[in-house]
Amino acid sequence: MKYTNSKVEEVKFNNKKIFVKRDDLLHKDFSGNKARKFYYFLKNDFNNVTKIISHGSSQSNAMYSLSVLCKIRNLDFDYYVDHIAEYLKTNPIGNYKEALKNGMNIIVKEVPKNIDKNSIFIPEGGALEEASFGIKILANEIITWAKETNLKDLKVFLPSGTGTTALYLQKYLPFEVLTCACVGDEQYLQKQFLELEEENHPTILNLDKKYHFGKLYKEFYEVHKELKEQTNIEFDLLYDSKGWLCVNKHLNNSKSDILYIHQGGILGNISMLERYKYKYD
Ligand SMILES: *Cc1c(COP(=O)(O)O)cnc(C)c1O
Repeated sequence: MKYTNSKVEEVKFNNKKIFVKRDDLLHKDFSGNKARKFYYFLKNDFNNVTKIISHGSSQSNAMYSLSVLCKIRNLDFDYYVDHIAEYLKTNPIGNYKEALKNGMNIIVKEVPKNIDKNSIFIPEGGALEEASFGIKILANEIITWAKETNLKDLKVFLPSGTGTTALYLQKYLPFEVLTCACVGDEQYLQKQFLELEEENHPTILNLDKKYHFGKLYKEFYEVHKELKEQTNIEFDLLYDSKGWLCVNKHLNNSKSDILYIHQGGILGNISMLERYKYKYD
């Protein structure tokens, strides 16, 4: 089926064998965990719905994926932001540029309080119950693969933003799900979990240093380049760099097999890499 069934590859990073679920390759335009989270809206029929409304940052992966979804389903897409960075306006790039091409209406205003019945509202980052529909399919792909590969002691790792993907994976998987908080701190992530489910939460791993979402860190850039070199896979700079630092710290000596979920986000790397190169190269 289109937009599902990604392959799993075995890689070696810093001499540790790790499996990578290539959700970044699900489809050229609609990939990563946003494709899983929004799969429900791709597959189901919504009578009379003509528009999707969402909000968040003007560079977000969720914004871009929603613009693709709306294009495929022939829906209008209103996206509310509190500002658009000056450099993006003068030099559109990455997610922002492509979402505009897909017909997104970007609106610098507060999200409207009343959503009319012909519109669907999607909260920032796709943190909603309907996301479980596509994530369950992802979980089933992992279960099937683990059985075929005869892996019994498996742990699944993925970095979190809203935590929606990690939470629903833990709900549907018989394996432990490990994650780290990339957007807020650990308390924020716990709270996000609780808003969706009372129990059965993923395990949160920590690093010693505090990182702020969207800021540049030399070690993030370095691990990104190291990964590319050693695994030949491009990983996202906002979530995966921290994710792999966590893997290095906590899982390098693990006796369990590790499956890392590649959640996409590569289009967002273009603007991040511009900033990183300017700062460090
Ligand atoms: C959105 C996103 C995440 C975070 O997903 P959540 O379900 O919000 O935790 C992680 N990695 C990438 C590449 C993303 O685009």
